[in-house]
Amino acid sequence: MQLTPMMQQYMEIKQNHQDCILFFRLGDFYEMFFEDAITASKEMEITLTGKNCGQEERAPMCGVPFHSADTYIAKLVDKGYKVAICEQVEDPATAKGIVKREVIQIITPGTIVNQTMLNEKENNYLASVYINEDGAGISYCDISTGELYTTSIRGTNAEGALLNELVKIKAREVIINESAENLISVEEMKKVTDAYFNSLNESYHNIVTVKEAILKQFHTKSLTGLGLEDSEIACLSLGALLSYLFETRKHNLSHITNVTVYDIGSHMSLDKATIRNLEITETLYEKRVQGSLLGVLDKTHTAMGSRKMKQWLREPLNCSSQINERLDAVEVLCDEIIIRNNIKESLKRVYDLERLAGRIACGNANGKDLIALRNSLFMLPELKAELESLDNGLLNGLNGEISGSLMEVHDLIEDAIVEEPPFTVKEGGLIKPEFSQELDDLRFSIKDGQTWIAELEGKERERTGIKNLKVRFNKVFGYYIEVTKSNLDMVPEDYLRKQTLVNCERFITPELKEMESLVLNAESKINQMEYEIFADIRIKIQEYILIIQKASSAIAVIDVLTSFAHESVALGYVKPEVNEGGSLVIAKGRHPVIEQMIKDGIFVSNDVYVNDSDSSMLLITGPNMAGKSTYMRQTALIVLMAQAGCFVPCETASIGIVDRIYTRIGASDNLAQGQSTFFVEMSELAYILNTATSKSLVILDEIGRGTSTYDGLSIAWAVVEYLCNANNKIRTLFATHYHELTSLEGSIPGVKNLNVDVAEENGNIVFLHKIISGSASRSYGIHVAQIAGVPKTVLEAAQNKLTDLESGKYDGEGMLAFGSNVIAEEGEHKELTKGKGKKLKQSEPSQEELQLSLFSFAPNPVIDRLKSLDLMKLAPWEALKILGELQEAAND
Ligand code: ADP
Repeated sequence: MQLTPMMQQYMEIKQNHQDCILFFRLGDFYEMFFEDAITASKEMEITLTGKNCGQEERAPMCGVPFHSADTYIAKLVDKGYKVAICEQVEDPATAKGIVKREVIQIITPGTIVNQTMLNEKENNYLASVYINEDGAGISYCDISTGELYTTSIRGTNAEGALLNELVKIKAREVIINESAENLISVEEMKKVTDAYFNSLNESYHNIVTVKEAILKQFHTKSLTGLGLEDSEIACLSLGALLSYLFETRKHNLSHITNVTVYDIGSHMSLDKATIRNLEITETLYEKRVQGSLLGVLDKTHTAMGSRKMKQWLREPLNCSSQINERLDAVEVLCDEIIIRNNIKESLKRVYDLERLAGRIACGNANGKDLIALRNSLFMLPELKAELESLDNGLLNGLNGEISGSLMEVHDLIEDAIVEEPPFTVKEGGLIKPEFSQELDDLRFSIKDGQTWIAELEGKERERTGIKNLKVRFNKVFGYYIEVTKSNLDMVPEDYLRKQTLVNCERFITPELKEMESLVLNAESKINQMEYEIFADIRIKIQEYILIIQKASSAIAVIDVLTSFAHESVALGYVKPEVNEGGSLVIAKGRHPVIEQMIKDGIFVSNDVYVNDSDSSMLLITGPNMAGKSTYMRQTALIVLMAQAGCFVPCETASIGIVDRIYTRIGASDNLAQGQSTFFVEMSELAYILNTATSKSLVILDEIGRGTSTYDGLSIAWAVVEYLCNANNKIRTLFATHYHELTSLEGSIPGVKNLNVDVAEENGNIVFLHKIISGSASRSYGIHVAQIAGVPKTVLEAAQNKLTDLESGKYDGEGMLAFGSNVIAEEGEHKELTKGKGKKLKQSEPSQEELQLSLFSFAPNPVIDRLKSLDLMKLAPWEALKILGELQEAAND
């Protein structure tokens, strides 16, 4: 049996869009068939039905009304499907045979432009990655705003740098060359990015066609002008991106006017763990903005400003002159309170110009969008006047980016578009009177007819004596006269019955129908003419897209700088001094988020002094809950804020530029993926040790806790030695429960002991949160357990055990128990090192004593092997391997 003609048409179209769910337009519905219908009905939670398709069995089918399709499409795209929209492309009334249909657009997670599907505070990026033996090219674009960036990565650790870059970009969708799978684990990339991945076949990466596509897009004759002449891999990723966009959008990409070629080294590099651990844009567990650094700093007023703020915090700068440029601008805005407030007031009334420009360029903008554009442009002269009065290079430059000619666009919209246009653009009600003579004439020609109809109700009531007679309109019958059943006897003879309802009847008269056809014909002409005028205006505005984009990106930056200034004044931040040196000196530093959270209490400020020579490794000991982690994170956040161009929470700060911040803190996401805590910890550690440079800042919170005390301590020890070696001292803040490590101060140059001050009052401890020099006296783990609500009997037993251990009353067996995980997790190690705490003081053991006490119990091959290791000569991966073997031996 043959398929019906319509089904044949469906099949042909579906054949070319196998990877999409095909929304097939049938009248007022989009229908899906066969497999698509089964998948979509499940995902969108709609009923699955069937349609006769000419075969014995009905075709599975489901459908959604076209006017509410957006919500359904959003659901599917959100789940990672591609949706192909197939429309009727000729008028069914005039079509001969089956109506012609075509796919007019493919919507994928990274190519959404529809406002209702986008988050205004978040960029929606599509990233294109091209990988070969030379390295990787990355390009990414937000099609809703027209922003486009490209870069390339080469050299050692290209894979790590690529993953970090993808984490930073946070693309919704990534397209990648098929052959990349031979060189890199695409699965790993998927895990790290959470994006939807599509492999593109090699036809997308032909260097000749790729170059042509780029030159065509940017209307230029050579790649030199774009800064791309030396980077073939960047071009390959960029060209594939443009082709993919063109194929899915099926529309010109005229609002993509420029490509920003950037160098990865120009930004501070932050890996996924660090972005998460420092809670830069969202909190660690609840994923909320409130409680993150962004939550404190983001007081931007425009959507593009808030997207820019996120970008700046995710990619702080590495170049002191650029950072100081931003800081100087923030300083001026801090000082000029009135001007700053005026700027904020202007910004409040600026809409999302970037996305408005995108919609105008794609031909999607409606009347409301143009009014939003006009209202935004209206604010610009005021904003410019304020900026002009400021004495600052960056701000004056940004002002120059906002072109005065945008007022022409403002005036055009002001003259043409009514104040409150409808959402639709084809049903009239858009264009102001006096904008087009032709339109006015047409409107005038139906005035009489409209008045006649408007007055008909009154006239007929009088003529017939029916007091509640009504003249109404609906789409099916047009105009009609309605009379209730009780008055039917008064209906005159010239009324023609059209419809009978329960309580009333509807009539028409020949005269009314004549007038109606006159009016409706003219109205449809008017609507058509309004649409044409509107479309013309949209095209005229398209000529200004580039300058609208320039202005909006300048406004985004002004918004962020103003927000930085506002918060800096409100929260008592100071301008940091940023330099190319190797020190970080912070006086009375505070944690920007925690100080806001403990508003009732007082945040205790702390100093930081760390450099790349005699004080590079700060070993911080102290009880749980004392504030070690807060201190380390605040140091990292202050550096990050300073390099993003923001003032910082402290009294003074001198920041020697940091190229990367690394953090090894707590558990990680990977735990859920079946990897052991210790393995994850060691992988993260290996990554840090392999890639940190002399300009990096490393934050280590408890290394080695996932294994036995001796393993853990040995690794931590070796890590200190590695990060502090004579040739390369990497600035590190290391919080540890291994008090044994504190004996390294003095023996390894650069190691400095710090601890968090604690007072004891009547057997209770009070955390003072003050960082002081020297090592902690005790761990106070039992006190913390008490605060946390551990039962009294357990606390007492623990106290007794501790007393035994501290007084040396343990045997070999006891010592083994001490070496196990349980007690190590509590952090209750025997105190072996010097104590500068308030009450307990112990004498400092010599290095020999220390080693002896650690490894003095029964001879053991595992320990012998451990002792024989030369840690300075071991690569981290070797250490890990040996560790595995040792653990195996210990388990035997
Ligand atoms: P640790 O890492 O030593 O276990 P945290 O840094 O997690 O301790 O601090 C525990 C809690 O103590 C924090 O959540 C905060 O409420 C408080 N705290 C830490 N540092 C300070 C400080 N400098 N001033 C005030 N409160 C602090």
